[in-house]
Amino acid sequence: MSDSIQFSRNYSDKSTEQGFQFEFFCDRCSNGFRTSFRPYAIGKISSALGTASSLFGGVFSTAANASESVRSANWERAHDEAFVEAAKELRPQFMQCPRCSAWVCREKCWNTKKGLCKGCAPDLGVEMSAAQSSRSVEEVWAHAAMAEEDKKLGEENWRETIRASCPQCGAPQATNAKFCPECGAKLKSSEFCTGCGAKLVPGAKFCAECGQKAG
Ligand SMILES: [Zn+2]
Ligand SMILES: [Zn+2]
Ligand SMILES: [Zn+2]
Ligand SMILES: [Zn+2]
Repeated sequence: MSDSIQFSRNYSDKSTEQGFQFEFFCDRCSNGFRTSFRPYAIGKISSALGTASSLFGGVFSTAANASESVRSANWERAHDEAFVEAAKELRPQFMQCPRCSAWVCREKCWNTKKGLCKGCAPDLGVEMSAAQSSRSVEEVWAHAAMAEEDKKLGEENWRETIRASCPQCGAPQATNAKFCPECGAKLKSSEFCTGCGAKLVPGAKFCAECGQKAG
């Protein structure tokens, strides 16, 4: 395949026995540009022979086989020529970015003003709009408030012992609840003494200040 004219490695060969067609893709947006289908003349003769030989067998098959090797050599040559033609045909639709070397489509991905691909030099309006949206999303995250029930996960609640499951029935606790929603067992010991109001040490059975039984 002739490399001199090849402008983009990003193409697909749609050629068949019947003819040639290539599709070149933009490195940035991946849009494909197809060449018009160029029929391969000798291909038609060969496949006519092929059809005849499969219908009648024997007599025609020798002729078909003989043309096979000639055909493939001819086809290869025609294919190479068709590729060069295809590259010439579509080359004007593409530009190569001098900064990132990508071959991009002129239509959507080329910033004519800057002479760079839009990956390297985006349209400012598009970029501003995207930046603004991204900023709005940041604001949403920064100012999001906790749901009321999740506030029980707030800082002050980490000071007390949190039970992951009920000590009585073993039910896992979905929230930082005071009582087990399954059996009603008390999950938290009261923080203050009912007798003197002193702060109780977590897990204490009696108040350290007055000896009152803790809740
Ligand atoms: Zn493109
Ligand atoms: Zn670029
Ligand atoms: Zn329980
Ligand atoms: Zn007390």
